[in-house]
Amino acid sequence: MTEPVPHSLPSYLNPNDPGPWGIYLEQVDRVAPYLGSLARWIETLKRPKRILIVDIPVELDNGEVAHFEGYRVQHNTSRGPGKGGVRYHQDVTLSEVMALSAWMSVKAAAVNLPFGGAKGGIRIDPRNYSQAEIERITRRYTSEIGVIIGPNKDIPAPDVNTNAQTMAWMMDTYSMNEGGTATGVVTGKPVALGGSLGRVEATGRGVYVAACEAARECQIEIKGARVAVQGFGNVGGTAARLLYEAGAKVVAIYDHTGIVHNAHGLNILALFDHVRTTGGVAGAPDTESLTPTEFWSLETEILIPAALEGQITHDNADLIHTKILVEGANGPTTPEADDIISSKGTMIVPDVVANAGGVTVSYFEWVQDFSSFFWTEQEINHRLEAMMRAAYGAMSRVAREHQVSLRTAAFIVACTRILEARQVRGLYP
Ligand code: NAD
Repeated sequence: MTEPVPHSLPSYLNPNDPGPWGIYLEQVDRVAPYLGSLARWIETLKRPKRILIVDIPVELDNGEVAHFEGYRVQHNTSRGPGKGGVRYHQDVTLSEVMALSAWMSVKAAAVNLPFGGAKGGIRIDPRNYSQAEIERITRRYTSEIGVIIGPNKDIPAPDVNTNAQTMAWMMDTYSMNEGGTATGVVTGKPVALGGSLGRVEATGRGVYVAACEAARECQIEIKGARVAVQGFGNVGGTAARLLYEAGAKVVAIYDHTGIVHNAHGLNILALFDHVRTTGGVAGAPDTESLTPTEFWSLETEILIPAALEGQITHDNADLIHTKILVEGANGPTTPEADDIISSKGTMIVPDVVANAGGVTVSYFEWVQDFSSFFWTEQEINHRLEAMMRAAYGAMSRVAREHQVSLRTAAFIVACTRILEARQVRGLYP
């Protein structure tokens, strides 16, 4: 019998994965030279700790039985229980869930939350199913992954096509199976069920804090700064409103209905009213409409992509003239576009720190659930701002020390923290 090769990969890991997992592996390789003696442990980051693939059989409203494929991946739990959302989407794949779980490890460590990274998903187009069917699917999925989740093990949260109601069903199912109320098993719950105040606005507020920190470093006054935002939903809408209230001139907003512009600054509160009545920003009073090319070409101090991934590519990166780009969305800038924009001197605040406000308040929710003692919204916002500033500061110091981008610096900070924990814990047995 031959000895196993020490670094041979498990059969389910393709070292040349062209998908999201491959992108993540490239990012890890890029930080390896900065990890010093901790690089010895780097393989830890390249293999998820635990992967669970489950079959979800469910009776549909018409009496038929359908089967769905579900996943829960715990990438790393060296620093604490796994943490990460659950996505319902027809394109969910194991490679995607693995990469998203790894990015959660990086995000939690970059913000210094006592969590590891995890992610879950079901391969399903939820638009094709009734609420009652979605509830049954959610409950069966929760029962199936119940063997590895728990308040001290792995704590799911909402992601694409899941919400506070989904979390309430997950919490109830887990609690019924355990025989006791376990509010801390998921975050992003309704406030009536141990959810946290401030959670809805948390990501946008974190983006706002990251933008303010970057502006301070670049010696740009927020008051009067020209801002353009793609996305006017939970993240983009909140960030735009907070910047507007701080005196910034939000000159353009881009959503799925169109792009509105006013060189003197948009009235963001009036724009919210317009969106509430019409469903989108297009046609708002006192605005002119722009093409996407005109939007990306705007000269601004702060640009915030907060809609979808992959919006800034080699096709439009050259157009961009902004001093600071704050990534509200996950992965809005392709690596090629990142190089083009950075070479022009634009500071890019990476998603793993810029949009970490949501997971930070999820951490607060988990802490509150453990103590069954709930904080005021003011306390939450105050603590969120302090944690975001500390995360930004740690990233910025490493960027200066190694003369690297903020993105590489965030990965260095995060991977160092994860591997330090790995090293001091040691291997068991
Ligand atoms: P949302 O659904 O509340 O808002 C999305 C916004 O994007 C809407 O204004 C929509 O009109 C706009 N949009 C959609 N398609 C568009 C298109 N083709 N062109 C231009 N605009 C378009 O979503 P959200 O919660 O604000 O999330 C936005 C991004 O932030 C996503 O990438 C999400 O993964 C990321 N994110 C969200 C959170 C959170 O807590 N909500 C946390 C971390 C990251």
